[in-house]
Amino acid sequence: MKTINATLINIYHICHRELWLHANGITMEHTSDIVYEGKLIGEDTYPQRAEKNQELEITAELDNGMMASAKIDFFDAKNGIVHETKKSAAKEKAHVAQVKFYLYLLRKNGVKAEYGLIDYPKIRQTERVDLPEEEMVEVEKWIAAVTEIIQLESCPPTLPISKCKSCSYFDFCWVGEE
Ligand code: SF4
Repeated sequence: MKTINATLINIYHICHRELWLHANGITMEHTSDIVYEGKLIGEDTYPQRAEKNQELEITAELDNGMMASAKIDFFDAKNGIVHETKKSAAKEKAHVAQVKFYLYLLRKNGVKAEYGLIDYPKIRQTERVDLPEEEMVEVEKWIAAVTEIIQLESCPPTLPISKCKSCSYFDFCWVGEE
């Protein structure tokens, strides 16, 4: 059974079809690795963090029997702060969901995880992400939904084309349709 990771949680908040395609190994040239790109920006922009904070890999067995895992680029264990860096020039709810997933996994493992900070170097902004205890169940619902979607026999329907312009699967979904 597939392990649910942060990239899948992120994509779930963008497009369920993209989630299915990605999870089932259908990749397009230039498909972006969201986490990896963020890491590159982080290394260029905040080199001091590599020394101060620790990269952390974490896994957890979930109540539904699924496994979840995440690789957190910068974790300030002393203060319980997850740091994430995004190259995007716009804040997205998928980024927030990804960081909530990190906080969830850390807490599932008994690690103090207070909140997250998403840095957007391009727009020089930082967004704080909290995960109140009552929202832990929301993250569990995302994980259950991701599990269900990636196991579907066929890929979910497309989004409206207006939402697809920057997607690496654009040709796959829309060639011949425009
Ligand atoms: S092109 Fe649109 S419908 Fe297709 S995977 Fe990307 S966002 Fe989803």
